Amino acid sequence: MRRMRVGFFALGVISLASLADARGLKVLDPLKRDIVTSGIQLLDWDGHLMNPAPRFDLQVLMPVIGDGPNPAPFSVRLTANHPRLYFDQNSTYGATGPTKNLTIPTNGGSAPFRLAMFPDRAGGNETATLTVQVTDRFNRSFTRSIPVTVIDQDLPRPANTLLTVNYSQERLNWMNTARRPVIDQAAADWAYFFVNPGYATVPANSEWTFIWNTNGFTGGNWRLNTSAYNGFLLYAYAIDGPQLRSGGAGSSRGGFQSVAGNPTQLRRSGTVEVERKGNYNTLGWIESTNDDQWWTTGNLGNEQNDLYSIVRHEMGHAFGFNIAYPRFLAAKNGNGIEDPEIVDLLGGPLMIDAFDHFHGTIEPCSGCGAFGYEYYGQIPRRRWLPTKVDILAMRHVGWTLRDISALWPLQWVTTGLPAGTRNTAYSQTLVSKGGSGAPDFLLGRGKLPPGLRLNRFTGVLSGTPTVAGTFNFTVTLREAIENGQQLDRSFSIQINP
Ligand SMILES: [Zn+2]
Repeated sequence: MRRMRVGFFALGVISLASLADARGLKVLDPLKRDIVTSGIQLLDWDGHLMNPAPRFDLQVLMPVIGDGPNPAPFSVRLTANHPRLYFDQNSTYGATGPTKNLTIPTNGGSAPFRLAMFPDRAGGNETATLTVQVTDRFNRSFTRSIPVTVIDQDLPRPANTLLTVNYSQERLNWMNTARRPVIDQAAADWAYFFVNPGYATVPANSEWTFIWNTNGFTGGNWRLNTSAYNGFLLYAYAIDGPQLRSGGAGSSRGGFQSVAGNPTQLRRSGTVEVERKGNYNTLGWIESTNDDQWWTTGNLGNEQNDLYSIVRHEMGHAFGFNIAYPRFLAAKNGNGIEDPEIVDLLGGPLMIDAFDHFHGTIEPCSGCGAFGYEYYGQIPRRRWLPTKVDILAMRHVGWTLRDISALWPLQWVTTGLPAGTRNTAYSQTLVSKGGSGAPDFLLGRGKLPPGLRLNRFTGVLSGTPTVAGTFNFTVTLREAIENGQQLDRSFSIQINP
């Protein structure tokens, strides 16, 4: 009995050891690179918009000794220890981070998952750990930890003077000092994407804006601005109406912004109305801008809604997604928004529905529903943020976009490499910029100086060259995202004797 138990235990150890074999688990990124050892690199683009959610393939292939039992199927549990990380659906999320369960039916089979970081507003890279627990058919399991690095591209930006949130039409005293920070933040997060190319100052008593009555969308009055302003005048006020909904629009009777005497297609004012009882219910609001709590509500009818989400959405109507904007109207009446970059991202124009929403559009890169389609998409549908497609649509409407990282195409930064010396340590780092995924530096044609190696994940070219001469080679720069770009660059290294 004792021997049998020992024998069984020993068998268990062997099996666990083979199950825990590093070759048994692969996590392939969109470029089919195994990132179990190198780790996952995610992007947090600058500005408050939905980030790329690359798709990974998790593969389990366990060695089977002789005619040993097939260990499949495998159940896989993914966890990540950061409140702003999320997997695609179905998954959980929350204060301690997300979880996702996968099943791999066959030995050598794989299952996909996506991982992304909800944005913050501060710079600084962040790190976390993705933990993969694999359990086989015999309930034997092993765990691997994979480092996650989030490259944070938020930059310190000067305060944006493009926008004034005006509370003079608030008559219900609901937008009090506790609630205004949420509304101000939503406005600032929109304005972050836009620059002021020199819009003419709007004189007092020259801009008409329609203000709804406090009982909702039943009637109201046109008002004139009481003082001069520069940029966009956004009236924010509460309503208490029977429709239980909020609203937002640009001013259809106001003027257009002009730059150096030339009129643009952009409105000068608009409104956001917030139904104080709640969003399609009377449950009130969650009033927070804390990004770590992005997951608190899904803005559904049976729950308290997120004030930030709804005002961010309604401001989208006020700033551009509204027929008061001629270019939006033309796209709505025509073939949608045919901006070439949008067409490139979506494979066709961005279609606008009767409610000025981009119904039916899921942005491929983020997996998130576009403006007005926030209840859809492959990722958890919680706090609403614009997608890159929405920002590009604002450009189409007429806004001048800030040079944000989400708009940077993949590009090389490194143009050449310095010479080295034989038998002397050499280390240089190839650098790229932009794109929607982690960079890949793949050695192409030609030959590295003997003794040097290129790390495709980091771009570090290092080692001790052993042969003098001139060595020419190409490196293909790619981005780890579906349908990413690739750019070859030729390099030459002189190794001196
Ligand atoms: Zn809407």
